[in-house]
Amino acid sequence: MRHEHSPEGLPHYDQYIDGDWQPASNGQTFTVFDPANGQPLAICASATHADVDRAIAAARAAFDQGPWPHTSPARRADILHAIADALEARNFELAEIESRDAGVPLRKTTYNDITLGLEILRGCAEMARKHPYEPLPWTDLPTVSWNFVWREPIGVCAQIIPWNYAFCMAAWKLGPALATGNTVVFKPSSLAPLSTIAIFQTIHELNLLPKGVVNLVLGPGSEVGEYLAAHPAVDKVAFTGSTEVGRKIMALAAPQIKRVTLELGGKNAMIVLPDADLDLVVDGVLWGAFYHSGQLCEAGSRLLLPRSLHDTVVERLVERVRGMKIGDPMDLETDIGPLISERQREKVERYIAIGREEGATVAIGGGRPLGEVFVNGYYVEPTIFTGVQPEMRIAREEIFGPVLAVLAYDEIGEAIRIANDSIYGLAASVWSRDLQQALAVAQRIRAGTVWINEHHVLNPRAPFGGYRQSGFGREMGQYGLDEYTEVKHIHVDLMQRRQGRLWWDTLLPE
Ligand code: NAP
Ligand code: MG
Repeated sequence: MRHEHSPEGLPHYDQYIDGDWQPASNGQTFTVFDPANGQPLAICASATHADVDRAIAAARAAFDQGPWPHTSPARRADILHAIADALEARNFELAEIESRDAGVPLRKTTYNDITLGLEILRGCAEMARKHPYEPLPWTDLPTVSWNFVWREPIGVCAQIIPWNYAFCMAAWKLGPALATGNTVVFKPSSLAPLSTIAIFQTIHELNLLPKGVVNLVLGPGSEVGEYLAAHPAVDKVAFTGSTEVGRKIMALAAPQIKRVTLELGGKNAMIVLPDADLDLVVDGVLWGAFYHSGQLCEAGSRLLLPRSLHDTVVERLVERVRGMKIGDPMDLETDIGPLISERQREKVERYIAIGREEGATVAIGGGRPLGEVFVNGYYVEPTIFTGVQPEMRIAREEIFGPVLAVLAYDEIGEAIRIANDSIYGLAASVWSRDLQQALAVAQRIRAGTVWINEHHVLNPRAPFGGYRQSGFGREMGQYGLDEYTEVKHIHVDLMQRRQGRLWWDTLLPE
């Protein structure tokens, strides 16, 4: 690929279209910044409509005329394994790229994100091997026939991801699409595109995929993403991001009745039952609420405590938050890094002000950390609000930052009502020593994932996705693969004779 350096010494990345690295047709670029210090990290080509047209045309040709949709699942699986192996060889480099680009603490990218992304790719490869046929029950009416379902790729898939969890998310979008024989035009967030670019570099160097099977366009969502999602030659849009943009994507997909899957926002409840193991609860809540500064769609942003435990748990949480290390994401000691952008910090700070105005109490945090290292980064302290009422905006709206709203409840029915009183329904966690009781609560929670005594654990073999305005469709596991296929029923008549057919009785004269 073109890997020049700009006059300022920054690396310069192009788009990947039809097996080639290409600048924007009009030469336009945008700059990618390091959220820990506001410094520029890289210059990227910013796609024009003509570039998106070319990327889609390449994917279209690779699907309509290329060998890819008809390549055997075993071969596709081998290629996915080879991609995963090549990425694994870059494990630490990828972790550093992601940490610098998105401000994710290096401990998280090193020990979670890259490994999980690779597991997802490999999981898709294995599932793909046995995917395309599904026998149906034997049928003898009107005559004996053999029936089965053939799973076929949908076609050209536009895949759009946000800046958080970018490496993993790229893996869980590309993996199932490729495993099932689709072709792709991919758009990462312009706030953190670098780990996706690294994946495409690896794919290019391996040279195992036919040209045009995967294409990468870069640039802002309102321009590039919208044009891509609306394009009549795209068959499916797989989108992860905000609920607001998700609504727009549905509307853009409507004219062609495109297939759409949406993974959107969340306001996820962590419900502590009175018998819970409090050591586990305190660890789990910090993990649920403040992992990647709460910038994860499934983050636990509401904590529901029995009133009898409220003060004890809050006290212990505050004590532990005090000990968390806020700092440079590239430092392996860091627990809490910066937010992704100045805009995101403004949004989070606006919500902290709203929480105060609404009458909630800041138990800890609420400001920016002080010190030389924080001056140019987009840092916000981990913040816990107590005295939160269910109708407050900080209890209802997705903040997407290190802000936890604590609500007290008197009986479990009330906790379940509060948890479900949301436009969202992505995830929740239930904390109890009594698994039967925890399961009974889990059953009544309207969300796509419920963890019991755990949070944030995404499982490459388990479906992930939302109820309600958290979206629809599932990613990961067999359900995730199915979202990239059309279902074709094949009926094979086995009798080879005219008598006994439907047509015999209902239409044709004897
Ligand atoms: P966002 O604004 O919706 O952006 C997500 C992606 O869509 C980015 O690539 C963005 O590009 C692009 N985009 C923006 N406007 C677009 C438009 N009009 N048409 C097409 N594409 C467009 O979300 P964000 O603020 O970056 O990310 C945070 C949100 O994502 C949160 O609400 C969070 O809950 C949600 N999220 C959900 C999940 C999940 O799996 N359910 C996972 C992660 C995040 P640019 O960034 O380049 O503008
Ligand atoms: Mg960035």
